[in-house]
Amino acid sequence: MSAEDQLPPDEPLDRRVTIGLAKIGIALKQQAWAEAGERGLTPTQGQVLALLRANPDGLRLRALAEQLGVTSATVSDSVTALHRKGLVAKQPTAGDGRGVVVVLTPTGNREAAAAAAWPDFLLEAVGALSPVEQATFLRALVAMIRTLQEKGRIPVARMCVSCRFFQPFQHDNPARPHHCAFVEAPFGDGELRLDCPDHSPAPVDQAAHTWEVFRSSTATPRRIP
Ligand code: SF4
Repeated sequence: MSAEDQLPPDEPLDRRVTIGLAKIGIALKQQAWAEAGERGLTPTQGQVLALLRANPDGLRLRALAEQLGVTSATVSDSVTALHRKGLVAKQPTAGDGRGVVVVLTPTGNREAAAAAAWPDFLLEAVGALSPVEQATFLRALVAMIRTLQEKGRIPVARMCVSCRFFQPFQHDNPARPHHCAFVEAPFGDGELRLDCPDHSPAPVDQAAHTWEVFRSSTATPRRIP
């Protein structure tokens, strides 16, 4: 009997990857609840604070709900609770007297800094991967996030692969094959952005073509016609 024959029957690879991701998801959730509990916040309230910290001009309720992937009612409840705690305030939208945005108060800003650090416990585990493993992992994450976005499972992210400035495999340098036409600079898989402030959505045809080039190319640099 070969060594291979002695191996126990195993789950298919895609199932094992899914189980691994689910374990990381459980760890994130447990950490979020533990940290939130210490601060008297729910995980959603913590996420609202972290999101507002990244958007100092404030966000409307609808934008908060869209970016968090929750209902308007859920985000409204969280904002009401944060307002009661003095962590957020509502102010008129600049140039639009009818609109209102949610912003952080100075106390909220301090809480937000702590809330934004919740996923940092994962940094140690990610840091243990080699740079090549990290870049490969990031590329796979980009592909998964895009699929989930297309199926409406998670909010749309400002990723390179959906940006009109993204030109994959434009350069012969295997370490930095992609090109960002916004800053006119080459970059590699490890520098792919998941939430870029300079992101501009590509038209549907361009996005589909860019994705095809990005996914079908591995080591061999290719040029977009
Ligand atoms: S502008 Fe940002 S999202 Fe767009 S290609 Fe450049 S780095 Fe990527």
